[in-house]
Amino acid sequence: MAPSLNPGEDRACDISGVAYLAVYSYPELRAMARIYLDHNATTPVDPAVVDAMLPFLSGEFGNASSIHTFGQRARAAVEAAREQVAWLLNARPQEIVFTSGGTESDNHAIFGIVQPLLESSPKAHIVTTAIEHEAVLNTCQALEKQGASVSFLPVSRAGLVDLGALRAAIRPETALITVMHANNELGTIQGLGEIGRIAAERDIYFHSDAVQSAGKTPIDVPALQLDLLSISAHKLYGPKGVGALYVKSGSRLRQFLYGGHHQRGFRPGTENVSGIVGLGKAAELARASLAGDTARMASLRDKLESGLLARVPDCRVNGAGAPRTPNTTNLTFCGIEGEALVIALDLKGLACSTGAACSSGAVEPSHVLTAIGLPASEARASVRFSLGRHTSEAEIDAALEMVRAAVAQLRSLSPTYQKPASAHH
Ligand code: PLP
Repeated sequence: MAPSLNPGEDRACDISGVAYLAVYSYPELRAMARIYLDHNATTPVDPAVVDAMLPFLSGEFGNASSIHTFGQRARAAVEAAREQVAWLLNARPQEIVFTSGGTESDNHAIFGIVQPLLESSPKAHIVTTAIEHEAVLNTCQALEKQGASVSFLPVSRAGLVDLGALRAAIRPETALITVMHANNELGTIQGLGEIGRIAAERDIYFHSDAVQSAGKTPIDVPALQLDLLSISAHKLYGPKGVGALYVKSGSRLRQFLYGGHHQRGFRPGTENVSGIVGLGKAAELARASLAGDTARMASLRDKLESGLLARVPDCRVNGAGAPRTPNTTNLTFCGIEGEALVIALDLKGLACSTGAACSSGAVEPSHVLTAIGLPASEARASVRFSLGRHTSEAEIDAALEMVRAAVAQLRSLSPTYQKPASAHH
């Protein structure tokens, strides 16, 4: 699965290390007002979420399993959070399992369905896509090593799964379809309703990683015919290290962790009460502010996108032909290195990111961008901007100028970049 690098094209990862050292060694750089356009990496914790959590980090410290008053108050808070999360997804509270985040939820869903089948029949098959997050891709690859077979479906240039290909990939032994809702790099949203119909027709378990869509687009688990769905608090203005897995009542999902009797023994481990309370509050806020947040973020994202296309020659939006989350744009700036642009923008006070992964001392182009058909050089020239609930118009105006200047500067230093003949920038 991992995209291969051409020899000699390796980029040393410690380049960024040097730049970050430079940034954090200078107090004036640390002190300046920074613009954060990396909300798909993580979001700031909403002040109302902090307020909800604080009592559970001090006076309300009980263990939710204890039968005394301290414990009962913690238990009541955990159960209230379960209702809040259920409300966000249109699920029932008893269908919500709290976890340590999106990664655990994805692992639990996929291992929990497929591993028991591998014990009775070595032929279990999974259908997934080439653009999943590593939490799904690497879990499927681990199951491949245990004997499962996996179809990694290709996606279109717009980043969408072809439903004909999905139907064709299904075999009699297909046990699970796992397709992400919104992609973390492109923001593209898959048509889960149709996939849910196909899965239900064939009686196949259907899981979706909704870590990037929860709070950005409505989710209705019964309407989408989902059996399993993963979310993570830190992508929706909640704390890090806590998430949830929706498990439709009656699903035959094996538990993933073994231990005590917490969460009916299905997901043992003393509940992270403050984190769960934070996730609950974040879910409640997300559902209440979804419509307003969506409209505001989409208009700012569109302003950023059209402003960059107008100001920067030789730049393109990736995944623009598909429905997208309102906060995400991914652009290719021909002739530059995405990592270099991220560092240059960080030095100017703007945080954004590339989808590139640094492994074995080399920057590998994003598997998502290569899956939509970008050559490795263009995938490496791409950067993601992801806006948030608190992003302001003034920040977008400032970002437009910062990106224009940084791209021009990097291109002027490039020995190979040729200005397009029509550009007057
Ligand atoms: N799935 C997607 C699509 C993600 O974007 C992420 C985080 O980046 C995860 C899963 C993992 O979630 P967590 O950080 O809560 O483990």
